[in-house]
Amino acid sequence: MRKKIVIIGGGFGGISAAQEFGDYEADITVIDKTNHHVFQPLLYQVATAALSPADIAAPIRGILNKQKNITVVMDEVISIDRGKREVITKSTKYLFDFLVIAIGSRHSYFGKDEWEKYAPGLKTLNDALFIREKILSSLETAEKMKDPDEVKKYLTFVIVGGGPTGVEMAGAIAEIVKITMMKDFRNINASMTKVCLVEGEARLLLSYPDDLSARAAKDLESLGVEIIFNQRVTDVNDEGVKVGDRFIKTNNIIWAAGNSVSPLLKSLNAELDMAGRVLVNPDLSLKDDPDIFIIGDAAYAKDKDGKMLAGIAPVAMQEGKYVAKIIMEGKDADLREPFKYFDKGTMATIGRAKAVCIIAGFKFTGFFGWLLWCIIHILFLISFRNRFKVMAEWAWYYLSFRHGIRLITGHPNKSK
Ligand SMILES: Cc1cc2nc3c(=O)[nH]c(=O)nc-3n(C[C@H](O)[C@H](O)[C@H](O)COP(=O)(O)OP(=O)(O)OC[C@H]3O[C@@H](n4cnc5c(N)ncnc54)[C@H](O)[C@@H]3O)c2cc1C
Repeated sequence: MRKKIVIIGGGFGGISAAQEFGDYEADITVIDKTNHHVFQPLLYQVATAALSPADIAAPIRGILNKQKNITVVMDEVISIDRGKREVITKSTKYLFDFLVIAIGSRHSYFGKDEWEKYAPGLKTLNDALFIREKILSSLETAEKMKDPDEVKKYLTFVIVGGGPTGVEMAGAIAEIVKITMMKDFRNINASMTKVCLVEGEARLLLSYPDDLSARAAKDLESLGVEIIFNQRVTDVNDEGVKVGDRFIKTNNIIWAAGNSVSPLLKSLNAELDMAGRVLVNPDLSLKDDPDIFIIGDAAYAKDKDGKMLAGIAPVAMQEGKYVAKIIMEGKDADLREPFKYFDKGTMATIGRAKAVCIIAGFKFTGFFGWLLWCIIHILFLISFRNRFKVMAEWAWYYLSFRHGIRLITGHPNKSK
């Protein structure tokens, strides 16, 4: 009988697994609560009006349409019944022989969920659009306000978390509010704006070597970003953010400080870490269930030295491919080769033409680092159309210094 394989999530892990199956004889169902795959590493460019949502996303149905063994379903999985081998969605149930769970993660507010409404995080296209509108609306609001204190509040931007997302957001926002957009306004100018990046440790980009962290900090400071090291956020409200003992009045707080995984994983009754990730075997299967696999940001998997694998796209993609191969080989759990991550490197960009990269042990910074960053991101975008469009947008921005996607369609500041 043909095997039933269910993949939950059409992100980096889920899509890589599905594609690796090729025309394998099985009934494969890919379930995602959205109809699109998002290239998350470029979300910050949507949030800062450099790219539009369609440039970095593609319909999952379109990506997998050539594989006749795959059915794509848009639905939200609400629980998993291991006993009955069923995935339960909001509208129906799916039986499985093998299950691949690739549901990614959301941002975490370390138990202070009430902060989310003032300090949105960046994980989905909706998040990116919300942040974009918040930034653009704040500039519009500041332009028409008379009270200098209120103007300052709308022109202050605080990014919480000095990992790659925080660094990239801080650089891009600084560039918008200090350089590219201000020439379109008459009552506000760059000297009235303030961009702060808050990091709880003594350096940015903790997973990078010290010298690249220092270079990223220097590049951000040259764009006018104030970096606040060794301080934690202790309160967030509609007036601003408290960082250690200092209160920064602001309407614009962006959260890039932590991740947690969906409570859906609790229905597996498996061992989870503090962030809700599932502790998996070396073959990425559940501790006591060799036919259920967890991959990507939802898994707590270790490398050969026993260190937790980072929540990054290449890890999720390699895990997806590996798991598909394991399922197709059909070996018993004790005969499976453990998953081995091949680390090709890591990179983060700072503003329009700077980046820090470490690739195959070699370090690159500045303009050359940024060129590498551009090439690699273009190559990994999922569709040819997106590659072409993003290249054109970047070339336009590089030459003109103008962001093209500056539309406000909702009203994040309406209630103020
Ligand atoms: C802003 C940002 C910037 C990043 N930058 C980089 C970078 O520069 N380089 C890098 O390598 N990595 C980067 N990452 C991390 C990288 O994007 C993730 O590690 C990767 O996406 C994880 O892949 P995944 O398959 O586990 O999850 P995802 O790609 O997040 O996919 C999860 C999918 O599951 C779906 N889903 C979730 N819950 C359910 C449910 N209950 N039912 C149905 N579907 C569900 C979601 O809709 C989504 O499509 C970044 C992440 C973010 C948020």
